[in-house]
Amino acid sequence: MADMRYAFSWIFAVLLLGGCSPSDIHETRFIMGTLVEFTVADADSARAEAAMAAAADEMQRIENIFTIYGKTDNAVKAFNASPPGVPVELPGEVNALLGQALDIEKRSDGAFNPALGRLNRLWGFSGESPPSQPPSSEAIRDAMPVQPCIHRLPDGRWQRNHASCMLDFGAIAKGYAIDRGMAVLKQRGIHHAIINAGGDIRLIGSHHGKPWRIGLRHPRRKGAVLGSLSVSGDVSIVTSGDYERYFLYKDRRYHHILNPQTGMPATASQSATVIAASATLADAWSTALFVLGPDGLAHLERLGMPALLVDRKGRLKINDSMRLLFDQDR
Ligand code: AMP
Ligand code: MG
Repeated sequence: MADMRYAFSWIFAVLLLGGCSPSDIHETRFIMGTLVEFTVADADSARAEAAMAAAADEMQRIENIFTIYGKTDNAVKAFNASPPGVPVELPGEVNALLGQALDIEKRSDGAFNPALGRLNRLWGFSGESPPSQPPSSEAIRDAMPVQPCIHRLPDGRWQRNHASCMLDFGAIAKGYAIDRGMAVLKQRGIHHAIINAGGDIRLIGSHHGKPWRIGLRHPRRKGAVLGSLSVSGDVSIVTSGDYERYFLYKDRRYHHILNPQTGMPATASQSATVIAASATLADAWSTALFVLGPDGLAHLERLGMPALLVDRKGRLKINDSMRLLFDQDR
């Protein structure tokens, strides 16, 4: 996945506001190209430390299953190398997440597309060395996935319809890893915790009897927040932003979230935040909303997800259910 260089621009995407209490227990691990911070409140420290270590191991296991980068062999890479038209059986977790991803592709009108592997590789934002100029328009055209791309057969196996179709779970697997990490914390008796993977979070319980307070990073002003959310229970909050991985070329910003229709970085938003019942959903939908831009806010409202975005001109746009939760500029 992405290398260390990118991590430092990610860790402030969500800030835990209101300070840490001395009785919070922390752990940090580098997983999925980012620093993952675990915070546990109101728990015995030995139990919390063992639970966080197990959760981190689980998240690393998910990275190994879904990454299309690095040296680890996995079924996703094997599928991407399989001959078009030949059915392949995928392991249970890949099968399930791919089904969910294709469902979100449909519901987002193609704004979220899990088969952009070839195009993402061409742009190179997750590769060994960060890119410094855009690829040629011919190369982009050649790397566009030919639709319909990925096909599930009645017997449950999958096939690629064309060599241009390569899976890339980069916009959803981090959310899934957070969900799995949180499942491990819960199984081990933790009731109050946050997993923050570079600004993508799931939280449970409360912070010593008060809601957790989460600051949403301003996409252009370093260290500043757009506002904050006070939340408790079991909530996932994920942000996609054009400040995470980008380069400037001839005064234009090129970043890692692509518009599947053009093969170019999406231009409707600077950042997009979605709250959902799982980090998997929040992750996929924040990427989709980033691509859809302000028009996507009403769609997310209809699907029951609070959402906000900063549009291309830097204007904050919020849907009705997010308005109930969001404190601006605090
Ligand atoms: P995120 O940071 O969650 O918005 O995900 C961005 C990552 O997902 C990129 O680094 C690509 O690997 C992949 N990606 C880029 N554009 C899209 C898209 N429109 N739909 C799905 N995945 C994408
Ligand atoms: Mg995402």
